[in-house]
Amino acid sequence: MRILIIEDEPKIARSLSEGFEAEHFAVDLAEDGEKGLELASEIRYDGIVLDWNLPRMDGLSLLRKLRQAGSTTRVLILSGNREVADRVAGLQAGADDYLIKPFSFQELLARMQTLLRRAQETSEILKVGDLVLDPQRHMVERAGKPIKLSQREYALLEYLMRNVGRTVTRTMVVEHVWNLWFDGLTSVVDVYISYLRAKIDHGFPTPLIHTVRGVGFMLSAEPKLEKKEK
Ligand code: CA
Repeated sequence: MRILIIEDEPKIARSLSEGFEAEHFAVDLAEDGEKGLELASEIRYDGIVLDWNLPRMDGLSLLRKLRQAGSTTRVLILSGNREVADRVAGLQAGADDYLIKPFSFQELLARMQTLLRRAQETSEILKVGDLVLDPQRHMVERAGKPIKLSQREYALLEYLMRNVGRTVTRTMVVEHVWNLWFDGLTSVVDVYISYLRAKIDHGFPTPLIHTVRGVGFMLSAEPKLEKKEK
């Protein structure tokens, strides 16, 4: 595993890189935002620890640029800001996690390991019946036929497929597929479910997306479930 630490305070930077190296990570260090962005654009890191306040380019701008360029590297932001608004801004800019200074290295390590584990899981190909989703190629097929989805439809389908056979509520969908600040707009979920149905189920003999009355939705290829919910 290779990680990049972007941190301008030498003491913190040193202790982080020593800590990760002791855990057998390959570690690169950047002491300002520009250098950090340069490295992150050139090298495919598994994870990035990103300080919020940096000289030459702040962490948030760096992260936005990285995400705009299509990077999916897991990014954990370090910040002295305790305000919820800052945390939201960080997540909105594309951070995967947010840790407030001062923190213990053990906590940072545990969180980074969780992010990296999740990244590995998310790259596996998902299959439900004859429906296939390939997260690495960002492609969906049903019965060998490629299906074109919008970004939001794709995210919704991926979430349903990761929860195959389980009922997901509208609130769960909003939290995972939209963002936390999208609160209260659960009716949007029904709209997107109908878009997905038109693309995934329309014209196929077996529907995969099921409505669980009064609760939410479930993706399943099990004929038994279909009968029960019809
Ligand atoms: Ca700093």
